[in-house]
Amino acid sequence: MTSDQTHTEGAAARSAAGAGDLRSLIEGARVVLWDFDGPVCRLFARHSAERVAKGMVDWLAGRGLSALLPEDERQWSDPHAVLRTVAERRPGSDLVTELEARLTAEERRAADSAWPTPYADPLIRTWTARGRRLAVATNNSPVAVRSYLASRGLDGCFAPHVYGRTRELHRLKPDPYCLDRALNATGAAASEALMIGDSPSDLEAAVRAGVPFLGCVHSPKKARLLRKSGATVVVDSLEPVLRIVRGQA
Ligand SMILES: [Mg+2]
Repeated sequence: MTSDQTHTEGAAARSAAGAGDLRSLIEGARVVLWDFDGPVCRLFARHSAERVAKGMVDWLAGRGLSALLPEDERQWSDPHAVLRTVAERRPGSDLVTELEARLTAEERRAADSAWPTPYADPLIRTWTARGRRLAVATNNSPVAVRSYLASRGLDGCFAPHVYGRTRELHRLKPDPYCLDRALNATGAAASEALMIGDSPSDLEAAVRAGVPFLGCVHSPKKARLLRKSGATVVVDSLEPVLRIVRGQA
């Protein structure tokens, strides 16, 4: 794809969002729920997710447990897919606990070298200054999330509302569990909240929780995927969101 095509599709993503739709989503939000990897930062920017997944697959192989994973190499570039698959086949086992702990350690390491999503830091600070409550609702480890937020000086904008992966692995998104926990803890009605996410599973979780959804993606491919899944408001940058929150648009 040429850069012109990318630019054109990016512009299309912005106009498809519709300025009015975006504004009403933002202005209706008393509580903002953030997916972490994507909207807040690029977690595996320098610590490759593929390598983490391969490490988990190799660790299972070393224990003679390769048979737990179907023989489709391609899907094992996603560490969460490895964990989910093993958790489905050995629910509640020590093996799953150990595998989850290994993934948490890798995510914690990745958090040290994650790239902030452009405009996320100032948007988080501005929204907080405007009296909105913020929460993280993610499939990543809350340990990694807190570590990243502290490194950016953003922990105070969210604390204590970080809802990440728990031992109940069957309740990862698209299950709305982490969103429901955030709503309960902040005392917000679903209709007064807004979920910012970058994947169809974020959208599904938001729909199931009854929370309005704002898609924020950095590639036309992801934007297409979200819209195909039913997202109506999708932006390719947080910049227009920040401008509205600042009252500049
Ligand atoms: Mg994400």
